[in-house]
Amino acid sequence: MSNSRRNFLRDLAGSVRDVTAAAQPTAPRAPEPEPEPLEDTRLERYSRQLVLPEWSEAAQDALARASVLVLGAGALGSPVAMYLAGAGVGRVGIVDDDDVELSNLHRQLLHFTPDLGVPKAHSAAAKLGFLNPEVVVEPYQVRLDAANAAGLIEGADLVVDCSDSFETRYAVNAACCAARIPLVEGGVLGMSGLVMAIRPGEGACYRCAFPAPPPDAPSCATAGVLGPAAGVIGSLQALEALKLLTGVGEPLTGAFLQCDLATLAFLRVSVQRRSDCPDCGGAYA
Ligand SMILES: [Zn+2]
Repeated sequence: MSNSRRNFLRDLAGSVRDVTAAAQPTAPRAPEPEPEPLEDTRLERYSRQLVLPEWSEAAQDALARASVLVLGAGALGSPVAMYLAGAGVGRVGIVDDDDVELSNLHRQLLHFTPDLGVPKAHSAAAKLGFLNPEVVVEPYQVRLDAANAAGLIEGADLVVDCSDSFETRYAVNAACCAARIPLVEGGVLGMSGLVMAIRPGEGACYRCAFPAPPPDAPSCATAGVLGPAAGVIGSLQALEALKLLTGVGEPLTGAFLQCDLATLAFLRVSVQRRSDCPDCGGAYA
């Protein structure tokens, strides 16, 4: 990167900080630690997000220190992991016990035809390493369940659930509530999808919103799904993850977004926390 470009980005970041500081009330606040300055290559890699008025080197630094666990390296997990690794999340864990199959490739963008038969966790880790060598990617060839959930999420700053089963959703929701780890939920089927951000103890959890799984829920194998439909939901999950990790924007907590992808009608549904919720109710009283 040229010195002029580097100086431009630094000046821009400084001016954003100045404007932000000027807009703050004058009440005394504890001084925030100065983030480490970014080196040239990192400044260049992340330049298009660093120039965002809402972003900052502090936000970038928060991402670099963050550890995120992505459950599933399929249709939702592919865009989620790619956007998080691309954005500079320091550590990305990939949990998936499946192998790549031919029927996956129309929607699971981390896997290519030569990957057929390869464990998805390892196929995903290889691609993410090419995308951003700065990111530590840890593949876990295992399926999360109620028995191993607490151990798998331990140490994570955020979990993004890109699984395709209600059993996994409820298991990870309960584990994240118990450990107070923020969670981004998502699901897609046919031409509809759903996204929800959860900060345990501060609002509704997944089970508050959906106390029980729907009876006889179909799967992608029977109901079908279009690749871009999954891409929309996965991209929204990645966006919510970046918001929760950096404090930039307003995460979708206390509500879920219901997406009709046939008509592009998006409905935001507010959800109240349930005092009798077995996952979060009473745990933070
Ligand atoms: Zn709850």
